[in-house]
Amino acid sequence: MGRKKCYPSVDDQIAAGPKLGGKDSGLVIALNAAGLPRVAQLARSVAGEVQALWAQVMTAASGEAAEQMALAWSRKLGQRVLQAGLQVRAETAQAQAERQCECGNRRHAHSQRSRTVLTRLGPVRVVRQYLRCQGCGARSFPADEWLGWKHGFSRHLEEAVAQQAAALPYRQALTSLRRLCAIEVSLRAAQRIVGRWGAAELTPEPYAQRVKGRMVAEIDGTTTHLEDGWREIKVATFMGWRQGKPRAVTYIADWLPAQEFEEPLYREALVRGAPTAQATAVVADGAPWIWETATTMLSRPTQILDG
Ligand SMILES: [Zn+2]
Repeated sequence: MGRKKCYPSVDDQIAAGPKLGGKDSGLVIALNAAGLPRVAQLARSVAGEVQALWAQVMTAASGEAAEQMALAWSRKLGQRVLQAGLQVRAETAQAQAERQCECGNRRHAHSQRSRTVLTRLGPVRVVRQYLRCQGCGARSFPADEWLGWKHGFSRHLEEAVAQQAAALPYRQALTSLRRLCAIEVSLRAAQRIVGRWGAAELTPEPYAQRVKGRMVAEIDGTTTHLEDGWREIKVATFMGWRQGKPRAVTYIADWLPAQEFEEPLYREALVRGAPTAQATAVVADGAPWIWETATTMLSRPTQILDG
């Protein structure tokens, strides 16, 4: 009774059902009805956990410690709500799934299979129905389309891994994900994710520090001894130029032939907004490949010869 008195609104609201209008309200009410016992149970246990977290915060050694406790709790809570919610949605999708197979026979519920996927909130497990056609033997999991799970990781998690690994060496990327997002991914899994994302054509996001005023590029080549002998390493530096100072400097280096080196430079110039820059300049020595590259990359750069 005490608990109910403390948290009457949650139970009462659930018991009262959703207050919704519009054409989708029928489905939403059906979904809520299907999940009612589960969400009620969840809400009651969460109420107890709020009190436990409160007690932890009240006795925390420092503000930082309290922050960590609340953060960990919020992830755990999100994970539980997500898992319970996805389960109800999966069951609804299954109940509404087309049972008629393309071959003309009917698909029958064969068995239940569980699947665990790593999300940004941690692992989430959903039991799905496995349908099988009696005629042609075709198999399907009707819930999987709505869930959108393909490779054991949610798309949001894959994106976080791919973004970090694109900016940092693998081990640093994984450490950063663990510390900042509490995401635990193995090196092998990260490599597989990056392989998939790397294969997709990625449109480069414009930098936040997109060039509004002037953009300067420095291009140079230097000979270095690599495993297979002496090779020319080509380097380029891009920067915004404001009030006589370089801003938002980025570096590109590779041992590609001159013609292939143009591509990363061109891409960098594009994402930095070179086409709309007030003015562009290239600083370099007299090497002919550099000036060819510069004029391919930028329409009319100011050419500054640096002996
Ligand atoms: Zn069939």
